[in-house]
Amino acid sequence: MQQKHNFGAGPCILAPSVMQQAANAVINWNDSGLSILEVSHRSAAFENVIRKTQLLVRELLNVPNDYSVLFLQGGASTQFAMVPMNFLQKKSRAAYLDTGYFAQKAIKEARLFGEVEIIASSKDKNYAYIPDYSSNDQRVAYLHCTSNNTIEGTEMFEFPGFGIPLVCDMSSDIFSRRINVRDFDLIYAGAQKNMGPAGMTLVIAKNKFLDSVKAEVPAMMDYRVFRDNDSMYNTPPVFSIYVAMLNLLWLKDQGGVEGIEKMNIKKANMLYQEIDRNPLFKGTANVAHRSRMNVTFKAIDEATEKAFLQFAEELGLVGIKGYRTVGGFRASLYNALPIASVEVLVNAMKQFENSRKLEQTLQLA
Ligand SMILES: *Cc1c(COP(=O)(O)O)cnc(C)c1O
Repeated sequence: MQQKHNFGAGPCILAPSVMQQAANAVINWNDSGLSILEVSHRSAAFENVIRKTQLLVRELLNVPNDYSVLFLQGGASTQFAMVPMNFLQKKSRAAYLDTGYFAQKAIKEARLFGEVEIIASSKDKNYAYIPDYSSNDQRVAYLHCTSNNTIEGTEMFEFPGFGIPLVCDMSSDIFSRRINVRDFDLIYAGAQKNMGPAGMTLVIAKNKFLDSVKAEVPAMMDYRVFRDNDSMYNTPPVFSIYVAMLNLLWLKDQGGVEGIEKMNIKKANMLYQEIDRNPLFKGTANVAHRSRMNVTFKAIDEATEKAFLQFAEELGLVGIKGYRTVGGFRASLYNALPIASVEVLVNAMKQFENSRKLEQTLQLA
């Protein structure tokens, strides 16, 4: 079997050691004679897993004590609705930053619950940058932003501090870099981009913010129900949480978030340098807002794009086709993607350029 280098945007790759431990646990978990897929979520052994996973999240992200760490289901897409369902009353208003495809989806859901004010948008340039924004409207219920725009390849490196509760979709860059949790009132992230397999959604929320909820919401949509039941109001996604725990232990071994951030900067710089150097390619995002997780770029023309996609596929480079709204290429450099895979991609771009030059020389001769 040819070795693959998976640049897919999600679900993310996981370290081989994590995959191996997960595979073992499916057959015989910790020599219990049971599979992780069949153990009771109320067993002491699994309660230990969920507690440990919470502690790892707290440790790796320096989560303050007055914040809760919750494991939900439904992906980040459910959070698009759950946030306004809890915090946006009829006749109140929420502010949104419109920075891309997922931000738009969040806005659409919020409009079902109350008034939405878009305080800044980068739609005019196909979301290729993070717009400037400001707000001193203290009456809005919260301000919603997306830290990393997975499809467009832009990332926020600064966050607003207007004294308005800040809610952030961190699905595609959580655990990839240091953050100050105190800057936010609520953070959510689908697990499958950097934390583990799909099926679990991480929420980190300030207790005071959760206590401010006035709306009556169904139990499964009520953050406080998850908080008050240690994320075990119903059956949690046991396997997804277990593998996330393994993955966070792996992350700790990489020097934690600080260690992986250094590696992520290195990987992203390597690829952007080649994009900027190679005359056949061009980056699509504003340089100051380039994402370190999802690198978006284009070829000089459609024929070149097609040819490179095929060239890359033959080398085992998987998942580099850009999302249909942006086109071109997208290479996702999530935590577990080794630097060696980035080297393979960069070398492929160089080889491709050289073969082009050779073709042209032969045509001239
Ligand atoms: C992938 C992604 C989503 C959607 O996540 P699901 O868990 O599939 O619902 C939302 N926001 C961002 C930023 C994403 O990258």
